[in-house]
Amino acid sequence: MSEDVNPFESLQSQIDDAAAVLDVGDDVIERLKHPERVLETNLTIERDDGTLERFTAFRSQFNGDRGPYKGGIRYHPQVSRDEVRALSGWMTYKTAIVDIPLGGGKGGIVLDPDDYSEAELERLTRSFAKELRPLIGEDRDIPAPDVNTGQREMNWIKDTYESLENTTEPGVITGKALDSGGSEGRVEATGRSTVIAAREAFDYLDKDLEGATVAVQGYGNAGWIAAKLIDEMGATVVAASDSSGGIYNADGFDPVAAKDHKNETGSIVGYAGSEQEITNEDVLTLDVDLLIPAALENAIDADLAENVEADVISEAANGPLTPKADEVLEEKDVFVIPDILANAGGVTVSYFEWVQNRQRFYWSEERVNEELETVIVDAFDALVDTYERHDLENPRTAAYVVAIQRVADAFAEAGSWP
Ligand code: GLU
Repeated sequence: MSEDVNPFESLQSQIDDAAAVLDVGDDVIERLKHPERVLETNLTIERDDGTLERFTAFRSQFNGDRGPYKGGIRYHPQVSRDEVRALSGWMTYKTAIVDIPLGGGKGGIVLDPDDYSEAELERLTRSFAKELRPLIGEDRDIPAPDVNTGQREMNWIKDTYESLENTTEPGVITGKALDSGGSEGRVEATGRSTVIAAREAFDYLDKDLEGATVAVQGYGNAGWIAAKLIDEMGATVVAASDSSGGIYNADGFDPVAAKDHKNETGSIVGYAGSEQEITNEDVLTLDVDLLIPAALENAIDADLAENVEADVISEAANGPLTPKADEVLEEKDVFVIPDILANAGGVTVSYFEWVQNRQRFYWSEERVNEELETVIVDAFDALVDTYERHDLENPRTAAYVVAIQRVADAFAEAGSWP
């Protein structure tokens, strides 16, 4: 990648683009460009061989004007203070665009989980949960899964919190396993919203999803579910990649069989339904109708954007396009469904999980998926309404205009505090 892009600066530039359209004072915008607070902590755990190791961990609480802070915890070597600050800001505007009564937060630990045993990861996760305990709670801050974390880590955090608090409070965290108070449909939710948003965009642009070609970058939870669901909607998945490389078949392949191959071998590369091995960059620049970036931030910079040939992009990852890539794609008339809407299914079903936890009453998968459909379609309609009303060039700016206005209104309605 040629551009060295700080995701926190990307967030601030996205807010500035929307501020130019909004009738919100600069002083309020300044407030909405920074997290309320960031915890940085050092966690020291015992390795299986008896030695000690120290890890840096963060939790950023970006904004709580619309409700408790909400957002995942990621385990990745690239985790940094600025990455966590950016991701917590994106969560704030994500919960606002889909209009669920939550704020934004995000956390992370700097590590590559592949280098540690399950017992070590459990000790580390419980140590982080202990450190987070005073900050989190079902009315304060509600973590969730993110990159390289899932039900297992969420169950450990819930158990640590409940043990220390001597209570049962499953709503302190979402993304749990079903028997630990999780929700039906939560695992699939991010990929599901990515394809619902894509379907709405195709409809809006008068494009046919039936037979449309699709490339998916990243074959983790969000990417592979998006591939499976878009295939079920009648589109043809022709390419996908993971951290080991990419696969391509002009006639399309079975996304579930590709996932089975990844489960067996560790990668989609080598899957029998692939005609040709291609690079991650090839996947991003293929001439397809729909591109789904589902890996990490900054996957597409300005140089790569010059070569993007997709008509529509639905961002399953957080922050996959740099602001300069956004400008290039705007020039090229690519319709980009922004992350804060496209991948908002995860946090939306987290919200449903939290509601179910608090009511101790659990919904069917059909009900979860129906409610999710309504939330994403309503958010897409709000985006399009603002996009057209302000004659905007970029759907991302439209999403931020809607979202920032909602947060600013909640802040104004709260009145002043000495
Ligand atoms: N980590 C997911 C996201 O980036 C889900 C967050 C949540 O469920 O709170 O949206």
